[in-house]
Amino acid sequence: MSLRGLILGLMSDVIKKKMEAASRKWIGVCPNCAAAHSISDIGGISYNAAGRKSAWVRCPSCQTHSFRIFETATA
Ligand SMILES: [Zn+2]
Repeated sequence: MSLRGLILGLMSDVIKKKMEAASRKWIGVCPNCAAAHSISDIGGISYNAAGRKSAWVRCPSCQTHSFRIFETATA
């Protein structure tokens, strides 16, 4: 592998990890079974906004579709 290829490979890995970390900060609790999941657990979508996000998602625990409010755990 070339040095350039190695550097690009490492960079994309870092960016991927950062995006994953950002989406893990958003936690939503299922209104049906009370299971808490991060956005990355449910759909892998990351948001760059502060405050609250809400989304129509399917719960991985009870398989129920519900309107879930996601909040940042660190806010
Ligand atoms: Zn659930």
